[in-house]
Amino acid sequence: MTVHGERARNLLHEGKGQADAYLSLSPYNRYYLTGFSGSQGAVLVAPEEYRWLLCDFRYTEQAASQAPDYEIVPVANDLFKRVGALAHDVGAQRIAFEADHLTVEEWNRLTEAVPDIAWIPVSGMTEKMRMIKTADEIVLLRRAAQVASTALSKVLATTIRPGISERQVALSLELVMRESGADRLSFDTIVASGPRGSLPHGQPSTRILEPGDYVTIDFGAVVGGYHSDETVTVVLPGSSSTAAEMRQIYEIVYAAQQAGLEAVKSGTPVSAVDRAARRVIEAAGFGAQFGHGTGHGVGLEVHEPPYLSWRAAPDDVLQSGMAITVEPGIYLPNIGGVRLEDTVMVTDRGYQRLTTVDKAWRVL
Ligand code: ZN
Ligand code: ZN
Repeated sequence: MTVHGERARNLLHEGKGQADAYLSLSPYNRYYLTGFSGSQGAVLVAPEEYRWLLCDFRYTEQAASQAPDYEIVPVANDLFKRVGALAHDVGAQRIAFEADHLTVEEWNRLTEAVPDIAWIPVSGMTEKMRMIKTADEIVLLRRAAQVASTALSKVLATTIRPGISERQVALSLELVMRESGADRLSFDTIVASGPRGSLPHGQPSTRILEPGDYVTIDFGAVVGGYHSDETVTVVLPGSSSTAAEMRQIYEIVYAAQQAGLEAVKSGTPVSAVDRAARRVIEAAGFGAQFGHGTGHGVGLEVHEPPYLSWRAAPDDVLQSGMAITVEPGIYLPNIGGVRLEDTVMVTDRGYQRLTTVDKAWRVL
């Protein structure tokens, strides 16, 4: 059995007592549990090694080769009926389904097609398993981060200078990431320069970079399904009217990121990492300008649990094998912004950086 089939077996074991089968309709969980990367399909797992992957004509051949632990069931527009029939065949009566991955419309169709089964809503079961990465997953995360960090270093050295637009920055970075082995981008690259830097998720615009600009670039690569996530704020040569203020907030965000990273360690509550970073920014008087959480998990999705928030429960703790980001920022409307982000692996002794661009203040 492959690692995917083993995950499905463990999942069923986890849910024992609640339900006697598990239905997944989420693309990321589907990939995690089966190895099948197609965009459509349902996974049904039942005891005694019953594992089905239901998908339509476009994907049956791909599914058969990618998911050897599963019996492939071709479906047309009868997906839920087939799920019900399979469940009946093995006597499953209580089926757990991923409540946060089902639309109201799908729920209506499911319960209409299969009215005699007790559907048990569950949340985050597969996601919880996904938080702890295996050695193979860490290899891919590391590769994704390496591709992205190396590409950015190249683009910083060759392309980014006053006179080019934010969109050109994003385009060059995308080209180099893809040339360097990225399957695709983790997300649309964020480029926010000068006063636009106050937009935490600024889309690259036609704005032309000016001397002295602070340019925030948030970017990542996907390799083998796994994401990287990194943010730099770089300074262009030349002077600007906001130079003193920007330099000040840069140093605060840098110190906050260092404090956050130093708090990372297996066993630490995720909220303590947020607090460590936030405390630095609040002490400098910019607490209100740091309106987002300090980080998030990274894996098959660029944003996944755990979420490093001040609102997280105290028993929400870091564990060895988690991949997380630490990304504080300060955003000053009409002036600019700074965010610094690294993706790191949580270890027993602290953390190991995956993204590698140096975050210390520097002029390009
Ligand atoms: Zn990011
Ligand atoms: Zn992030």
